[in-house]
Amino acid sequence: MPVRLHNTLTQQVQPFEPLEGKTVKMYTCGPTVYDYAHIGNFRTFVFYDLLRRWLRASGYTLDHVMNITDVDDKIIRNAVAQGKSLEDYTNAYTQKFMDDCATLRLERPERIVRATEHIDEMASAIRKLEDEGYTYRSDGSLYFRISKFAHYGKLSHHDFTQMVSGARVDVDEYEKADARDFALWKAPKPGEPAWDTVIGSGRPGWHIECSVMAIHYLGATLDIHAGGVDLIFPHHENEIAQSESLTGKEFARYWVHSEFLLVDGQKMSKSLGNFYTLRDLFGRGFTPESVRYLLASVPYRKGLNFTFDGLNSAKTAIERVRNFKLRVDTGKFAEGENESLRARAESAVTRFRESMDDDLNTAEALAAVFEYVRDANTAIDSGEFRAANVAGVNAVLHLFDQVFDVLKATEHTGGISEPEIESLIADRAAAKKSRDFKRADAIRNELLEKGVILEDTKDGVRWKRK
Ligand SMILES: [Zn+2]
Repeated sequence: MPVRLHNTLTQQVQPFEPLEGKTVKMYTCGPTVYDYAHIGNFRTFVFYDLLRRWLRASGYTLDHVMNITDVDDKIIRNAVAQGKSLEDYTNAYTQKFMDDCATLRLERPERIVRATEHIDEMASAIRKLEDEGYTYRSDGSLYFRISKFAHYGKLSHHDFTQMVSGARVDVDEYEKADARDFALWKAPKPGEPAWDTVIGSGRPGWHIECSVMAIHYLGATLDIHAGGVDLIFPHHENEIAQSESLTGKEFARYWVHSEFLLVDGQKMSKSLGNFYTLRDLFGRGFTPESVRYLLASVPYRKGLNFTFDGLNSAKTAIERVRNFKLRVDTGKFAEGENESLRARAESAVTRFRESMDDDLNTAEALAAVFEYVRDANTAIDSGEFRAANVAGVNAVLHLFDQVFDVLKATEHTGGISEPEIESLIADRAAAKKSRDFKRADAIRNELLEKGVILEDTKDGVRWKRK
């Protein structure tokens, strides 16, 4: 059976195949680098990683482009508030994002591209849309006239025919009820960055960024376009309108979207105090592998309820597999093979593959692994595990780790690891808060001995290696 994916466009689970050969042209919406990414964001990035890994495990080669949105309403607002240039502000968060992705073992897309490095191409694309009558100008901004695009609403499956024609929206994010002609290009404003281009001075809207970069690197038609469900409207709907108006071709054949993450059953928000970045979790002593496992363990189209109990269970699950591997790696087993255990290893591999092929059903894939681990452990206990059964264990665990990638513990190459540093910084903050300055100083010195220099700033603690 081929890989099957749920396509938001058709609202069906469909067999997937790339249009040409074995190469999958994939575009995924990357981060808007205005702050640290939070665990809700990382659910989506882990989903991209699982999709990549499973396509590769199924014999495909990836040509995967992910953008970095380094200019948008929120970034400009924050950079201005901190008196920083757009570049300085976004470079810092881009680097932190890349570090977080590496810590979570997310495979790096073949190309990571920045919006601000493609402004001229965006302007040319908008000029083309203007020449073909899809746009109009108002107060120096350019808007996409959605009534000109007959298929508007085909992705979000919403009927927009009753919409007020000519009404406009300037912000990048809005609800379906506010569907209006959206800004392709925004007029320059005092104190905001602007670029001089063939369509005048200003800056691009968010939606045109992805259309232009996707087409530039992958051509008119993508095999897969992915994102979180929050991007279906307006972002992806607008991407389709722009892209298909530009090229006259279908923009993406498969639209794949991951569901929301809740924390303790509630929407994550700073005001509820349930808002977590990876740093917060590492500061509480959780490992990158536990976070990765928890985010990967729930099938991407199901809502994920994030809890600390869940993280602890993830930790236990990982330990169970690691202990099993250690037991097999170091055990001495009698010669020969336990036929029934061999058959169970084979069926675990088959079930794992079938589950992942079935729209990346990670929960079922994990169940196959854990049932096998239980059976094999029982066989070891009773002396029925034989030397030749080690091959079956290796086959199951290899497949498991190709996707989940949690068997190896995060290593501390070159000294203390980033999660450990973050954890000590969190301890130091707690010590200071409870006025235990001796402990706070001791932590500072401990870090210094390990080559990490702390710097207290008004925005919190910064650290660097010596
Ligand atoms: Zn996008």
